[in-house]
Amino acid sequence: MFVFGRNSIIFNQTGSTDIYASNRNQFKFQDAISKTKSNVNKAQVEDSFQELVINTWSFSNATKAGWNVLQKTHSALDAVEIGCMQCEIEQCDGTVGYGGSPDETGETTLDAMIMDGPTHDVGAVGDLRRVKQAISVARAVMTHTTHTMLVGDAATSFALEMGFPESNLTTMKSRQIYENWRGANCQPNFHRNVTPDPKKFCGPYKPIPSRNTDRVEATANKYISKDNHDTIGMIAIDSKGRIAGGTSTNGANHKVPGRVGDSPITGAGAYVEQGVGGAVSTGDGDVMMRFVPSFHAVMLMSSGMKPDAAAKTAVAKIINKYPQFSGALLAVDMNGNMGAACNNIDGFPYTYRTSKDSEVKTVTVKCSHSNS
Ligand code: ASP
Repeated sequence: MFVFGRNSIIFNQTGSTDIYASNRNQFKFQDAISKTKSNVNKAQVEDSFQELVINTWSFSNATKAGWNVLQKTHSALDAVEIGCMQCEIEQCDGTVGYGGSPDETGETTLDAMIMDGPTHDVGAVGDLRRVKQAISVARAVMTHTTHTMLVGDAATSFALEMGFPESNLTTMKSRQIYENWRGANCQPNFHRNVTPDPKKFCGPYKPIPSRNTDRVEATANKYISKDNHDTIGMIAIDSKGRIAGGTSTNGANHKVPGRVGDSPITGAGAYVEQGVGGAVSTGDGDVMMRFVPSFHAVMLMSSGMKPDAAAKTAVAKIINKYPQFSGALLAVDMNGNMGAACNNIDGFPYTYRTSKDSEVKTVTVKCSHSNS
């Protein structure tokens, strides 16, 4: 028996996972139901599917970690958990895991989710504090509760109850990012319609009572870029044709405390549908979660659209309302066809490996550029 990270995944001698046994049983049950449905693709219940791990950005170590686990446990869920965990450990781009994107008080908080295609079950955490293993806590929410998402300090309490260690997510680097931001009069800043002027001064803020705030101008967050704002979004398909997806991020730099981005929201940060495919997103989550673009892309694929066109259509819907939007969407179908679309970033790389490949590959997509 060996252990990854904490006791998140425990492999016994046969290579099967012990603590997620209930999930396996759930899958067998779902499998049995699926077999009775006339529209089920026979290949989905056979052990012959083309395996796949694909993720946002050039986080190739995460792809490798997911792929290696897929070869050992043949579980798409395990691959997504371990792949995302790799980025949490490596602090990919400083925007996944501990020590990045300090909020207005200097604290790093984490968002993560995991979704299982066969059961359509989801576990997620938002604004998770003082626990590094966000994707594994998300999986524990799925495995050990009938809820979908836990947030904030209560999510931390749950994590500790489940045996995850408590630790400080602040590093010298995140402390420095925070100090620099304070030194620059708290710029950039996510507040609006408050006093003192949040474009010039630090808080605390009070609402401007005289202003008509019934309808404020819809704006995207202009200063989001690939350098300060990424998420690992990963999709895996195992040899049984089971699809899983997940995300992990420390969100937006200098966010208002309590802010939860799109990443842990089902259909926004990630979405998978058994027999159809999956999609994951990265970028300006405050805008993206208003459009649930991962759900949108998967729905388009379910009506016959190819992943590339589905990703483009879902992103175009966002740009239509928010031309300043910056972000990307990655989509894949059950046959391993993949596609991505992105806006207002220089280029969007994604990384993958399938059973046809002997190594991890990276593709960089050209992005559209729009503004108003
Ligand atoms: N979408 C994430 C968020 O808004 C961050 C990112 O992917 O850039 O929290």
